[in-house]
Amino acid sequence: MSDDLSELYQEVILDHSRSPRNFRTLEDATSAAEGHNPLCGDHFTIYVKLDGDVIREVTFQGSGCAISKASASIMTETLKGKTKVEAEKIFHRFHDLIMTGGNGGAEMGKLAVMAGVHKFPMRIKCAILPWHAIEACLKGKKDPVSTE
Ligand code: ZN
Repeated sequence: MSDDLSELYQEVILDHSRSPRNFRTLEDATSAAEGHNPLCGDHFTIYVKLDGDVIREVTFQGSGCAISKASASIMTETLKGKTKVEAEKIFHRFHDLIMTGGNGGAEMGKLAVMAGVHKFPMRIKCAILPWHAIEACLKGKKDPVSTE
C-alpha cells in the first residue's frame, strides 16, 4: 500500500470516528448485544432490527477508540439491508482482512479501509469488537461479548 493510500484510509477512519453513522439507540430493535474490549476500554451496544432474515436497521451506542468506533460505523453502513447469511460471510471476510491485510475482494467496499489494522495487533480486537457483538445479536445470544 502506498503512503498516499494509507493517508486516504486514515482520513476515512477519522471521519467515521468523529461523526459515526447510525450512532443512536434503536427503539424498536429486535435484538441488542453489548461488546466490551477490556484491553482498550471499548464498550459498545449494537442494536439490530430484523425483518425475517433481513437486517432492516443496525445502530450502535457506546464509547471507544477511533478504530473501534470507525469499525462499528462502517459495519452498520455495510450490513444494513443484508441477510443474516450475507452478514456472516462479510464478517468472515472482514476477519481475514484485518488479520492478514489481504484485499478481501472488491466487494469489501468501505470495509477495505480497515485493512491497515493488521499491522497493529493491539488494534485488531478494537476493529473486530462490533462484529462480535452483532454476531451475538444475530444468533440471539444474551450474554455480553468480550474480546478477552
Ligand atoms: Zn480500541
